[in-house]
Amino acid sequence: MNSLRTLIVLALPFSLLVCAACEPAKHPMKTPPEEPTTTVVKTDAEWKQQLTPEQYRILRHAGTEAAHGKVYEEFKKQGGGTYHCAGCGALLFSSEQKFDSRCGWPSFYDPAKAKNVKLSQDYSMGTLRTEVTCAICGGHLGHRFDGEGFHTPTDQRYCINGAALTFVPAK
Ligand SMILES: [Zn+2]
Repeated sequence: MNSLRTLIVLALPFSLLVCAACEPAKHPMKTPPEEPTTTVVKTDAEWKQQLTPEQYRILRHAGTEAAHGKVYEEFKKQGGGTYHCAGCGALLFSSEQKFDSRCGWPSFYDPAKAKNVKLSQDYSMGTLRTEVTCAICGGHLGHRFDGEGFHTPTDQRYCINGAALTFVPAK
């Protein structure tokens, strides 16, 4: 009897992992998410419940998705529309500022609504980088790189994790 109980206890975390892996992606949305008007503050447990495991790892723990992943392939095919924070719904980028940088992550040369994009200095990789976060919920989005020689109006590359974005196609 004891060994059966041990087996159940040992197997439980694995069954949870399987469930987490098959959670459906939350892209895209048919209607724009409600725009938050004030700063969004949630507990770690609330974020964990709301987001997919991948979104939680990226947005709340400054994770990075794999380059050239499934979300990036979807991003390349998306037409006109807007990109919102997957955490709080704030408008971050527009497809008008999207460009193909071939880096393997969604790239924009300018935020559509700068007030919702926050920039800060990030020394985490032993070098100074500009971190891009959502100004409304503080979620990590990616990094901004400047002066790489892209023929865009700003020559800035907002290198953003696709899983941190919710795409809303233009009507
Ligand atoms: Zn946000």
